[in-house]
Amino acid sequence: MRPATRGVDGDHHTHTKRCGHAVGETREYIEAALAAGLRSVAVTDHVPMFWLPEPERDPRLAMRLEELPGYVEEVLALKGEYRGRIEVRLGIEADFVPGHEDELRRLLALFPFELVLGSVHWLGDWLVDGPASLARFERGQAEVDAIWYAYAGAVIAAAGCGLFDVLTHLDLPKKFGHRPSVPYAGRQAEVVQAVAGSGCAVELSSGGMRKPVGEPYPGPALLRDLHAAGVPFVLSSDAHAPDEVGYRFSELRAQLAGLGDGQ
Ligand code: ZN
Ligand code: FE
Ligand code: FE
Ligand code: ZN
Repeated sequence: MRPATRGVDGDHHTHTKRCGHAVGETREYIEAALAAGLRSVAVTDHVPMFWLPEPERDPRLAMRLEELPGYVEEVLALKGEYRGRIEVRLGIEADFVPGHEDELRRLLALFPFELVLGSVHWLGDWLVDGPASLARFERGQAEVDAIWYAYAGAVIAAAGCGLFDVLTHLDLPKKFGHRPSVPYAGRQAEVVQAVAGSGCAVELSSGGMRKPVGEPYPGPALLRDLHAAGVPFVLSSDAHAPDEVGYRFSELRAQLAGLGDGQ
């Protein structure tokens, strides 16, 4: 496990136009981070969809496998170019897909990644946070609870797999505003315990503040529980446009300060 955190003065989660649903060049994200006064920025584009057969990999969701070496090369070149002004980190946002851990391990080992984000976006072949996913959330509370329950299981497994430095958007199913009827569908303590035992940091992400739910991932109650269990946090914007780098970080910092220790 690599050292995961740079505290609260860096952005640990950004994308580029390479992923097919973000805009802007890598250099523009770095310039935005400099302008925002950050000390570090991790470029963490979506990993190629390694778990699917080639024809099923959607270029609007992630870069193609052939693009990965060029991505790494570009970020490392910019890292060198900006040395002394801002720390640029070569990262990747890697999907956790149960049963495909070995493929991901092999893929990650090919490149000198400094920050591997572990993300659950998929429950089986269903994308949790896609625009087309809203219909399933609207089937009613029983279905919403089932989604949250399954998401908890995936996060617990992701925490335990040993591939990730930082776990992302831990309560992603709230994106469109759908809440479980009890905290995390009855598995919140289990989630917190698994994350605390994993050695992973968790991102406090302002990404959710730009979504219908209108609050960071994780929300305040989950954040408190994670903090109480000793989980370290890093800040992230999940920027999909350069002007989203460092988005509302002063509010995130205030929230962490309010937890009451050295974070
Ligand atoms: Zn994305
Ligand atoms: Fe994500
Ligand atoms: Fe992301
Ligand atoms: Zn994301």
